[in-house]
Amino acid sequence: MREGTKIQVSVVIPVFNEEGNLPMLFSRLYPVLDALDRSYEVIFTNDGSADRSTDLLAAQHAARPDVTRVIEFTANYGQHMAVMAALERVRGEIIVTLDADLQNPPEEIPAFLKKMDEGSDCVGGVRLDRKDSFFRRRMSQLINSLRGRMTNIRMTDQGCMLRSYSREVVDGIVRSGAINTFIPALAYSLAKTPTEIPIKHEERHAGVSNYSLYRLIRLNFDLITYFTTAPLQLFTIFAMACSGGSFLLVVVLAARRLKIGPEEGGIFTLFGILFFLISVCMVGIGLIGEYMGRTYQVVRNRARYHIDHVLEVRE
Ligand code: UDP
Ligand code: MG
Repeated sequence: MREGTKIQVSVVIPVFNEEGNLPMLFSRLYPVLDALDRSYEVIFTNDGSADRSTDLLAAQHAARPDVTRVIEFTANYGQHMAVMAALERVRGEIIVTLDADLQNPPEEIPAFLKKMDEGSDCVGGVRLDRKDSFFRRRMSQLINSLRGRMTNIRMTDQGCMLRSYSREVVDGIVRSGAINTFIPALAYSLAKTPTEIPIKHEERHAGVSNYSLYRLIRLNFDLITYFTTAPLQLFTIFAMACSGGSFLLVVVLAARRLKIGPEEGGIFTLFGILFFLISVCMVGIGLIGEYMGRTYQVVRNRARYHIDHVLEVRE
């Protein structure tokens, strides 16, 4: 990069089948950025969209080539890989991540930059009045509290993708070469002065969420979908269901035994307990599988994503 042409702000946006949202996103995002009075770039990663997103992004690049870059993946590698690919290529000093579906309003970006100017190196958005399904919100709460207990990462709203990072934090993320990662959590662990700000949350502007229950569960296993470890993950899910079921069985049998007395010399109670212990073992095996799967991915060292082409003006 030439001296004196440093870009101040990079906005990173993953796109997967967002044809209904892109025109509105462009018309809201660019004016906000133009009004900043800072040099900026917007990097879209097209994560293997099958709709008109590809054309819309190419048209936007043609319209604003100076500030728009588009990374075209060959296939769908997932939101976090899409963000990662962009982070590996950003030129800006402050990096803002944003979803393409307008659930987090681009108008909030100046507030993030202000917070960064005040000395924070990682600002997370906290969605006020979150407009997602009841189930999604409950699930997020559960995962949030689990994560809070198991790690020393304290984030109020880990799922919010409107966030900003300093270049140092992003370089740290890229250097970590993380394969199974949840970028906001990784960034938080690298940040020295993380802060949070409340932001508005809106309904998805168009289309439906790309996350089904199955995808959400897997996302929360290793916070990245990666197809080779899926069988192991399914196994763990199955084992957990067995474990829950047999635990109930134990409770029922124990209650029956207390009320009605022993049956067949107590053999059924014993069976109940046996089933429970077996299922606990299965969870254990599944868990070991989870860790082995991750080790396998690191050892195999396979490319995490493939880029078809990049639309950008060369430096
Ligand atoms: N996304 C992506 N690849 C995927 C799924 C989603 O790049 O495989 C993008 C999507 O286009 C959006 C963002 O990631 O910009 C968040 O996705 P979505 O809105 O479906 O998730 P939710 O808001 O329901 O968590
Ligand atoms: Mg969304």
